[in-house]
Amino acid sequence: MQVAINIRPILQGRHVKSANKKPAAGEIAILSALRARRQTGNSSLTLGIGDDCALIRPARGEEIAVTTDFSLENVHFRRHWHPAESIGHRCLARGLSDLAAMGARPIAAFLSLALPAELTIVRRGQRSWIERFFDGLLALAGQMNLPLAGGDTAESPLADGRGGLAAADIVLIGGIKRGRALLRSGARPGDLIYVTGWLGGAAAELLALERDPGRFANLKSAGSGHPHLYPEPRVATGEKLEAGRLATAAIDLSDGLSTDLHHICEESSLSAEIDADVIPIHPMAQLAQAAGWVPSALDLALHGGEDYELLFTAAPETKIPKQVAGVAIHAIGKMKPKYARDANLALVDANRSTSELKPGGWQHFRR
Ligand SMILES: [Mg+2]
Repeated sequence: MQVAINIRPILQGRHVKSANKKPAAGEIAILSALRARRQTGNSSLTLGIGDDCALIRPARGEEIAVTTDFSLENVHFRRHWHPAESIGHRCLARGLSDLAAMGARPIAAFLSLALPAELTIVRRGQRSWIERFFDGLLALAGQMNLPLAGGDTAESPLADGRGGLAAADIVLIGGIKRGRALLRSGARPGDLIYVTGWLGGAAAELLALERDPGRFANLKSAGSGHPHLYPEPRVATGEKLEAGRLATAAIDLSDGLSTDLHHICEESSLSAEIDADVIPIHPMAQLAQAAGWVPSALDLALHGGEDYELLFTAAPETKIPKQVAGVAIHAIGKMKPKYARDANLALVDANRSTSELKPGGWQHFRR
């Protein structure tokens, strides 16, 4: 399938016209980058790129899940820290993780980009930034059978003589059996709380990136072991939780365990108690503590954010396998009734003493 993101706005960009250049490095780079791609199809995408709209036909009995995520330079990524492939991967991974949290199957993605002209320029022997961005994004899309079905581009103008910022807005469409989406509001008192994978790795890798971005500059492809640069959204796990009717509520861990579990408590009108001893801490978080970068690996696991694992609740009598779709599952606590004076979250430590766990929100780049 040909990819035809609408490139007209970049052709008509003021910068290109006034500079009186041949039209236009940007257009050629984006077109050649995209035309060369062979994309995956999806049975629910009946018309992809090339017309005014894409057409989507959900399977019988399905409803449509929609999520949108904005990736802004210096807020969600730094061009001088993150390889372009990682920025493309992460842009899509955030939306896929939201679909996973609902138990939805991905159908199509739509991407709008604002780019400084320099990011579309091909220098001799090198791929342009935007080609590399699509390398990362489309590699993950291919793994997930998710076509890029449309979008738009515009030139991000210079401001006050400084370079424009790159921004990407992605919309993901998924399908879910009617009435079966995993909501934040479905938890019941007594339900056990589970998480997938290991936590705190993304925050730890970000600390490593901050210290020495050059070490990661050539890390161009995904592979496990890079929880910040190449997170692995748990789409198959979410679909299996839904298909097996295993979970009563779910959310993805984008802002950090303490914040995201707080959302489940709020939406389900419950409180939660989790056990510090059994929280699965990512080995990179342990290394960050051992290196003296942070006082506590547990804090990275509780508050770090951007792990894109799933947190879900299940009735105590539901048998939850040790792995779902190849991803380890760990029980970390229990949902409880909420009384007026209760804190939402309590943390039980190794000495069995309980303290309030405040949501420690993820801040992007602390300046
Ligand atoms: Mg989410």
